[in-house]
Amino acid sequence: MTWRTLRDFLLDLLFPPRCVGCGKVGVWVCQECLGGIRFIEEPRCGICGCPVDEGALCEHCANSQHSVDRIITVTDFSDLIQEMIHRFKYNQCTALAEPLVGLMFRYWVQHPLQVDCIIPVPLHPRRLQERGYNQAALLAEGLGERLGIPVLLDVLVRIKYTKPQVGLTAEERKENVRGAFACPHKTLIGKSVLLVDDVCTTGATLEACSVALKTAGATRVLGFTLARPMLGP
Ligand SMILES: [Zn+2]
Ligand SMILES: [Zn+2]
Repeated sequence: MTWRTLRDFLLDLLFPPRCVGCGKVGVWVCQECLGGIRFIEEPRCGICGCPVDEGALCEHCANSQHSVDRIITVTDFSDLIQEMIHRFKYNQCTALAEPLVGLMFRYWVQHPLQVDCIIPVPLHPRRLQERGYNQAALLAEGLGERLGIPVLLDVLVRIKYTKPQVGLTAEERKENVRGAFACPHKTLIGKSVLLVDDVCTTGATLEACSVALKTAGATRVLGFTLARPMLGP
């Protein structure tokens, strides 16, 4: 037994994991709570996620320019999914990657897509060092492994250290991440990319990533995220 596994063993003994949803001891999220998460009800606008009657985009999005071809989200925000993502992202609770990947996988099985590779939204190296891991990369790797689709971790990079998007208006979000991403090695010619992130709010980050991916030759970029708030057009 290494020091690390011994330490984790003792920590689990002293502070056993509890289900994020119901508090049940022994798991980070229990099967009952996980099974209660409902997938987003289609049809939704493929860009902003608002409910639409038919077709892929709402009127507003159909009449504006987008680099990203479509944004697919597994579920609407609920207290449970928000709490899971928060702990996964900010509380070092990387054990939640597995059930979260499981949700994405279950959704995929019902709505499969044709893509050549999976690319996570990258963190700036400074933030990566602060957090110790990129939550989007953990999701991308888990999903890639289950689907047998290659995950490219070093193609898309964050070249600008931006302030967090939380609390910014839609316009400020766009401005904040404009030009923040790049693909220094142009290795995506003709590729269809699945761009993975944990949360999509206005889609500004996915859009900025898509611009960089398409500059590098990608022909199609589909955003795939766990959750998003419901927005009107
Ligand atoms: Zn539970
Ligand atoms: Zn829309």
